[in-house]
Amino acid sequence: MTELVPHWIDGARFSGVSSRRGEVFQPATGEVARQVALAEAADVDTAVASALKASRDWAESSLAQRTKIMFAFRQLVDAHRDELAALITAEHGKVLSDAAGEVQRGLEVVEFACGIAQVLKGEHSEQVSRGVDAYSLRQPLGVVAGITPFNFPVMVPMWMFPVAIACGNTFVLKPSDRDPSASVRLAELFSEAGLPPGVLNVVQGDAAAVNALLTHPDVAGVSFVGSTPIARHVYETATAAGKRVQALGGAKNHLVVLPDADVAGAADAAVSAGYGSAGERCMAISVVVAVGDTADELVSAIASRTRALVTGPGVDASSQMGPVVTAAARDRIVSSVDAGAEAGASVVVDGRSIVVPGEGFWVGPTLLDHVTPDMTVYTDEIFGPVLSVVRVSTFEEALSLVNANPYGNGTAIFTTDGLAAREFERRVTVGMVGINVPIPVPMAYYSFGGWKDSLFGDTHVHGAEGVRFYTRTKAVTSRWPRQPHGVDLGFPTH
Ligand code: NAD
Repeated sequence: MTELVPHWIDGARFSGVSSRRGEVFQPATGEVARQVALAEAADVDTAVASALKASRDWAESSLAQRTKIMFAFRQLVDAHRDELAALITAEHGKVLSDAAGEVQRGLEVVEFACGIAQVLKGEHSEQVSRGVDAYSLRQPLGVVAGITPFNFPVMVPMWMFPVAIACGNTFVLKPSDRDPSASVRLAELFSEAGLPPGVLNVVQGDAAAVNALLTHPDVAGVSFVGSTPIARHVYETATAAGKRVQALGGAKNHLVVLPDADVAGAADAAVSAGYGSAGERCMAISVVVAVGDTADELVSAIASRTRALVTGPGVDASSQMGPVVTAAARDRIVSSVDAGAEAGASVVVDGRSIVVPGEGFWVGPTLLDHVTPDMTVYTDEIFGPVLSVVRVSTFEEALSLVNANPYGNGTAIFTTDGLAAREFERRVTVGMVGINVPIPVPMAYYSFGGWKDSLFGDTHVHGAEGVRFYTRTKAVTSRWPRQPHGVDLGFPTH
């Protein structure tokens, strides 16, 4: 019998009442490694009921208690880094070093949450009127849900639940059904750290579980990370049901290379950010915008580096790039490249027919040149190891191209001209900007999120905006009078 990845509800593994099951593949071999439980609404109800029951006590727990448990969780995740990375590599496919990097970036959010007492402080104004003080409190929402994508099975859930839980909420996580095991392991470790049952629940599943969460009357807020069409659906459905929502969507990230840039450095960055994790990162670079007359030199530098990359199983220390997540993803990526070639792009490096032993889901790193903004290979989010080069003549053309794109997650500029970089940073309509940094993922104490079709809602995740999302403020005006003031029907001033 294939092992079942269960839910985690009320502090224990739970196989659920639904008998629906999904297959979890090992992308490097093409084999079905496990099955995953797929929840129906009844399983979601059980998880939310557990979270609701736990939320009364958890919201009453002291900051010191919550912080103590968070520190213990931090230690356990640190001690189990290798195990978590191995789980990610097995089900996602990315190479082990990349998986370890993902665990590290998730851990940094836990470290931020360990210091939550500092960011949960309210404001206080003494003597706003005679004998009157005014102050604000930040209080948890209650039960919040998180719905996460396949591409960061540890980091993206950890963008959410440590902050939500540190703020005094209880949490129901619905991870991707393609790589579900790491979430259960994280919940188990948190429980071992002393987290009471029901504070963190994991419901495995697909659209049925998501849709049950979006309209559940006891869920107060929803954090979502995934593709743009689903982000839009989540935002529209959950806000219509009266919930607070942050829904992070897809991306098409441009790396602009100005003629004065160091070509070798820019080529290194484009290859690292384009093909790392087989391009299955929301901050992956998918378009290189080559400005001016150094384009030929840049394309040739990117091509030579791309040809030298080693694609193979993530567990193999010599592999730089692993497989893509499913056979369907491989077929979709290959057809996108076909469409680009048919539309007139030149295929400089062709990864479509790469051969790696076994039945894994392989696409080699692919480089397309002379891509134009009307081609589907440019307009669609490919989410695979495909870099497109668009050639433009001026800085203004490059900026207009980035700003005309409906996505606005990340972008980068490579240049030695500080003034041009500053101009770019100020005028670009993208949420995260790198200057000579190809993947500008903000640190945990800043907030992560895009603009335009890359974010529905108005708060980014983790950092100060994450805390704002998971709390609501209350403004208190307080007086302790020595004697009665008498009746006064006038509007209160001072
Ligand atoms: P996805 O949108 O297919 O799935 C995300 C989540 O939504 C999963 O939990 C999935 O089970 C659920 N879901 C899928 N279809 C649904 C439906 N019809 N109704 C309700 N729920 C549904 O995304 P994915 O393929 O898992 O992940 C890749 C995508 O995520 C890419 O578009 C990538 O850019 C994006 N992403 C964005 C960020 C960001 O920070 N903006 C980060 C990581 C990934």
